[in-house]
Amino acid sequence: MRNALRLVLPLLLPLLLSQPAHAARKLKVVTSLADLASLAESVGGDRVEATSLAKGYQDPHFVEPKPSFILKLHEADLLVVAGLELEIGYLPPLLDQARNEAIRPNGRGYLDASVGCDVLDKPAVQVTRAMGDVHPYGNPHYWLDPGNGRVIARALAARLSLLDPEGKATYDKNLAAFEARLTEAEARWAKAIAAWAGTKIVTYHSSWPNFAKYFKLDVVGFLEPKPGIPPSPQHKLELINLMLGKKVPVIVMEVYFDRKDPDFIAAKTGAKVVVLSPSVGGDPAAKDYVALFDLAVATLSKALPGR
Ligand SMILES: [Zn+2]
Repeated sequence: MRNALRLVLPLLLPLLLSQPAHAARKLKVVTSLADLASLAESVGGDRVEATSLAKGYQDPHFVEPKPSFILKLHEADLLVVAGLELEIGYLPPLLDQARNEAIRPNGRGYLDASVGCDVLDKPAVQVTRAMGDVHPYGNPHYWLDPGNGRVIARALAARLSLLDPEGKATYDKNLAAFEARLTEAEARWAKAIAAWAGTKIVTYHSSWPNFAKYFKLDVVGFLEPKPGIPPSPQHKLELINLMLGKKVPVIVMEVYFDRKDPDFIAAKTGAKVVVLSPSVGGDPAAKDYVALFDLAVATLSKALPGR
């Protein structure tokens, strides 16, 4: 025993000394989306450590589960999800294996970011994923509206304060700073809104209804006949006719789709293909939640005819 201690103690001591029992441990926040991690970092500051399971350049519907996700979820104090079944394809089995009751739905450490947000495309009748639609409870890409970003940031500040009451003043201060930065950015984006109002666009997946609502763009069609269903030859022909009829100048596609179909349709219609990152980290310039919109505005501005 004594020999064992002699061997182990030198290894353990530095660890024990570097972590006094009363030192503030950072709250571990795990999010499905990089956008939610960015908002958690803005509000949590240095009291939290936020990581996202999905990277910004991945399709958020189809995230490949990794064993490392289970450990992250096991250690998490707070799990933030987009909800509306965006994570249904990978998260539930990971949560089962993570053995962390606090972050299961209804736990103190579980936050569904969609609550209180402006969610669009809510179906009037019951839709299920069995029908092929990956948006059965409304559009889960609602973070692409700065107004919803504000709602999510406030919900994060409230929940972090609940989990870590000592940090409340910090979270409140960080939230105010984030909201001020967002308000300043909205003044910049107002110029784009004025220039684009009413412009018709087509998008690959229905990732952009909240973005379009905010920026007053008019989404008239999609490459996917239904969210999650790849374009058929028949659908592509119909879309080409629709775009020619409505003189649609732009096809917006997400960074993680193949350009082949958008390029084909652009060649037939004269529209421009604009590749946008729908999430933080989908492009190096989209380094946080506000920068994500700055980049989208700058990229779209180059392609959309000015007025
Ligand atoms: Zn979707």
